[in-house]
Amino acid sequence: MFDWLVVGAGFAGSVLAERIAAERGEKVLVIDRRDHIAGNAYDHLDEAGVLIHRYGPHIFHTNSEDIFGYLSRFTAWRPYEHRVLAQVKSPTTGETVLVPMPINLDTINTLYGLKLTEAEVEGWLAARAEKVETVRTSEDVVIGKVGRELYELFFRGYTRKQWALDPSELDKSVTARVPTRTNRDDRYFTDRFQYMPKDGYTAMFRRMLDHPNITIRTGMDFREARRLFSFRRLIWTGPVDEYFGFRFGKLPYRSLVFRHETLDQEWALPTGTVNHPAESTPYTRVSEYKWMTGQSHPKTSVTYEFPSAEGDPYYPIPRPENAALYKKYEALADAERDTWFVGRLATYRYYNMDQVVGQALATFERIQKQVPPGAANDDALLVKQAGASI
Ligand code: FAD
Ligand code: UDP
Repeated sequence: MFDWLVVGAGFAGSVLAERIAAERGEKVLVIDRRDHIAGNAYDHLDEAGVLIHRYGPHIFHTNSEDIFGYLSRFTAWRPYEHRVLAQVKSPTTGETVLVPMPINLDTINTLYGLKLTEAEVEGWLAARAEKVETVRTSEDVVIGKVGRELYELFFRGYTRKQWALDPSELDKSVTARVPTRTNRDDRYFTDRFQYMPKDGYTAMFRRMLDHPNITIRTGMDFREARRLFSFRRLIWTGPVDEYFGFRFGKLPYRSLVFRHETLDQEWALPTGTVNHPAESTPYTRVSEYKWMTGQSHPKTSVTYEFPSAEGDPYYPIPRPENAALYKKYEALADAERDTWFVGRLATYRYYNMDQVVGQALATFERIQKQVPPGAANDDALLVKQAGASI
């Protein structure tokens, strides 16, 4: 008998389990159908002993002091500012070059053999930018800033591979994640706090979940858990459409296939990630973990990301028809008794880790208001039955 069942041991589930166990003193069972905790942030030593991220490179960055402060209870940090180079063909020389991404002053000067200053490049870009009346799509965002040539070089192919959709079919929020700069700043993110957990993500999650009120069962899915255990309240961090038995149809998610390689050499890449925007290359990017983790090791490990329709749901796909379908599930979720839907899959939002932590902390505050602490023996469902159609 548990007070709470938390489905999913990623950021959403683990933060809520920790808060409920520590602040409310209630008994929490955390399950995950994978054989590990930490969700998509899971990292581990590979066969060679290199710390890798099983589900692709995860770099922590946030502007929120509260979120950073909360996670700092469970980990020390290593400062790390991520830098990305894109491998593209120069439109002037036809040569393959590695240039900073996001596009900045050096990207343009290198590609076009120019020596523009910060002030000059603004005019140069403005002369190429196309006039877009209403910025609606992921194409509009980019061509409105840098014009068609740079859009095609850096964004069109990458996006078509990543999403199997043209940027014109995707919400503007997708490519708007990547800014355009006129200075020489070559960092991928500009957030105030940019760090990696010193001993890795999994170690951070282990500390977060290390509480006498928390029981963890990995390799167990919801169906099995509800058969074996009783519980009063539920935190759901899996796909929201799955919870409701796909009754309005499947919400589209995009997947990836990760190819992990260990190389018998100390370094492989000139920076943490190299993007490959050309549509002719089947993967989108290659990342080398030692840049991020700071690990010293005579070998190195890299991961290639191949976008895929099949596989685990990694990315909600931001576009109007999907948002409309999600709204229907959201209405069911809102009406579901004693159940809270949290995280990237359960709220169908293209959230970074810090945003999921923020959403989970906000959900905890709502729970505190809706369910007075110590109400463990109330008449909430003894065995959670309602709603879930799976
Ligand atoms: P998840 O981590 O997906 O956790 C949900 C868990 O629920 C999963 O482990 C799943 O197995 C489990 N589950 C689902 N259904 C069931 C069920 N029925 N029964 C039992 N268990 C179930 N964010 C950043 O901030 N920086 C980055 O650099 C970054 N890079 C990323 C790179 C890639 C390739 C991807 C895919 C994502 C990246 N993210 C990054 C986003 C980050 O992974 C997410 O924001 C975060 O992990 C979401 O946490 P979550 O708890 O919502 O979901
Ligand atoms: N993108 C692109 N070219 C790049 C990098 C990003 O076209 O070199 C677009 C692409 O659509 C991608 C989106 O911008 O999916 C967001 O990029 P980000 O690096 O934030 O993706 P994530 O790390 O979430 O996979």
